[in-house]
Formats: sequence, structure tokens, C-alpha cells
Amino acid sequence: MATDQAALLEAARRHLYPNYRQPPFVLSHGRGLHVWDLEGRRYLDLCAGIAVSTLGHGHPRLTRAIAEQAGKLIHVSNYFFNEPNLRLAEALCRLSGFERVFFCNSGTEAIEAMLKLARRHFFDRGERERHQVVAFENSFHGRTLGALAVTGQAKYRDGFGPLSGVRHAPFGDAAAVERAMTPDVAAILVEPIQGEGGVTPAPPGFIPALREIADRHGALLLADEIQSGVGRTGRFFAFEHEGVRADATALAKGLGGGVPIGALLCREMLSGALPPGSHGSTFGGNPLASAAALAVLEVLESEGLMERAARLGRHLAARLAALAETHERHVATARGVGLLQVVVLRDHVDARGLLERLREGGVLLTLAGGQGLRFSPPLVVEQADLDEGVDRLDALLKGL
Ligand code: PLP
Repeated sequence: MATDQAALLEAARRHLYPNYRQPPFVLSHGRGLHVWDLEGRRYLDLCAGIAVSTLGHGHPRLTRAIAEQAGKLIHVSNYFFNEPNLRLAEALCRLSGFERVFFCNSGTEAIEAMLKLARRHFFDRGERERHQVVAFENSFHGRTLGALAVTGQAKYRDGFGPLSGVRHAPFGDAAAVERAMTPDVAAILVEPIQGEGGVTPAPPGFIPALREIADRHGALLLADEIQSGVGRTGRFFAFEHEGVRADATALAKGLGGGVPIGALLCREMLSGALPPGSHGSTFGGNPLASAAALAVLEVLESEGLMERAARLGRHLAARLAALAETHERHVATARGVGLLQVVVLRDHVDARGLLERLREGGVLLTLAGGQGLRFSPPLVVEQADLDEGVDRLDALLKGL
């Protein structure tokens, strides 16, 4: 068996399916905001595995919850109740204001469940013509065929068609949504902040306009908060900034702090749409993932991480705005909410190259929307960590 980093990289080259573009090192462990590779190099993690590692790495509450649950009960299937899952359902409904939750294992699965919920809701009400979804250009909702159909970016869709049952409107254009609302529309699906599309917040007033349009046309309003949810923007849901409630919301990513879990939350009026046998998941809601998510939510509340995301988000926004001004020649803009923000580089800048140089200097970020360098750090990040990331980027931009 391969033991050192070089041998493992050779194993990757020979055996891993080559659908990703990993850099040439192997991560071995982490603590707080840092991760280390097998050769002992340390990296500041300001991406959190794409907005997943809510509590950073090795948080004692999360590791203890996982270890204790692993020793107690890992899996029973949904033929039976399990305790952490019921406690998690209670906590999620309390924090979110929703009444019902269905558990699955990823964001994509939560989206699939939400699309099925919408169709089946109208089917049961005898409105069988309602099966279309209005979604948005530049959105990302996942990679299975249903989630891909609602995704509004050619780079994810090309070659996988036919993808049907959806109409894409320009993000932020309420008049275009209104025009798309034919009687066959079951739901409007929206990311309040388009994450993969480039960390683009909906323009003010757009989400309330969608709520009004959906209500007037008798359609559902579905929120994808997979990237923006679980406190990242300073509120549990990004939707809350606009004072709007969706009929159902998909969560995943940050919910398990790194342990795979997805959730579909919905209002009581939708609780009959997926009766026994109509939808399910072998692993969804298993005790291990549930115990992890419960620990994440407990720490989120007890350590005030949402308030922290709001406060540090203001600091990060101010620093990135200043960076954009200083490097106007290379930076088009900076935007985002809370601890989900992006620096958008101008087209002449090699964004991937810059990301690599940052990484070589020991700072991890991810790309969003092609030219965007995305900050999505653990919510336990310190101001000094954010400053370190921005300072490194500043130094690299100076050298361009
Ligand atoms: N929806 C949004 C907004 C996302 O950002 C993602 C993942 O990046 C997904 C859905 C898909 O989630 P997953 O990769 O867990 O299936």
C-alpha cells in the first residue's frame, strides 16, 4: 500500500476517476482554521470545503458527538426512529420556523426531494398540469438529472440532455418571472445568493417579489439555501434578510459540519405530498449524521456563530471593498453577505493561477463564477484569519 505523498498522488493519477482538478498534495489532518498535508505543510482554510466545515476542523463538540454516536448506533434505516434524528428534526424546525423535515445525504438530494414534493403536491390536489419549475439563469442546484435540469448554467448541463420541465428567467428580473408564470408552473426555485454562479446576492426586493408572484399564481416558492443557509450570512437562512418565508427550503453543506447530510424543510400544508412509499432514502437521517448536525446546531447557538458571521462579514466586506478599490485595474468588484463573499477579478486576470499562488502561499480559497475568488470560511474563523487571507491576496495583486 502507498505510504508517502508521492506514492499516493501516483495512486490518484492511476485510479481516481479524473473528474476533479486537485492540487498535488494530500491533506491529512486539521485543527481549527488550519489543515496540513502529508509533508507537514500548513494551509489556512478560508473555503471550509465549500461552505461545509461550519465549526472548522477537529472541533471538540463535533468530534465527541460523532465518536460517541459511532459507539452507540450508526445506522438503523428509516424503518425505525432514532433519537438523534428526532432531536435534530425538533432543533431544525425551531431554528427555521418550518414544521416538517425530510432528511437525505446531500444538497442535490434535498433539491430532488423538493422538486418531487412540488409536483406531487399539485398532483394530489388534482392540478396535474402543474409540473413546470421556473428557475434562474446562472443558478446551481446540483448534478443529478432533476437538479441539473433546474440548474441554469450550460457548463454543468452540456451533454447531459434532454433536461426538461424547467424555464430559466434572468436572476433579478421579476418581470421575466411574471411572463414565465403560465398555468403549468408548480414552483419558483431560487438561491437567495447564487453561490456557484459567483456569489451574487438577489437584488433587494427580488425575493419578496417572487413571494408575491408565486402567491398570486398559486405556485410554490422554493428556496435553495444549501450554500447560504445554516447561519453563514448572519441569519439561519439568507431569505430572512428580506423578511420572506419560502414554502420549502433545501439545506445541506454546513449542516453536518463535514458529515454528509441534507434536509428538505417545508410548511405543514405540504406534509401530505410525499406519503409513505412515495419518497425515501436508506441513509437519510441516520443516527451518526444526525448527531453531527445536532452538535453543529448546538454550537451555532451556544457560541453565537450567526452573530459572529454577521459581524465578521461586515469586516470582510469592508476589507474586500478596499481591496477592490486599491486594485481597480485587476478587480471588477467584491460582493457577498456575511461569511460568503467573493472578489471578482477582471477578465484579463488568470483567476485559477492566482488561486494556485495563494495556495502555494498557504491560503485556501475556491473559485465561484469563473473569475470569483470565494471566501466561505468556517464560522469559527477569527478576524485575524480573514485579515491574513486578504493581506496575502493584496500582496499577490500588487505583484500582477
Ligand atoms: N445547491 C447549491 C446552492 C449548491 O451550492 C450546491 C453545491 O455546491 C448544491 C445545490 C449541490 O449540493 P451537493 O454537492 O451537496 O449535492
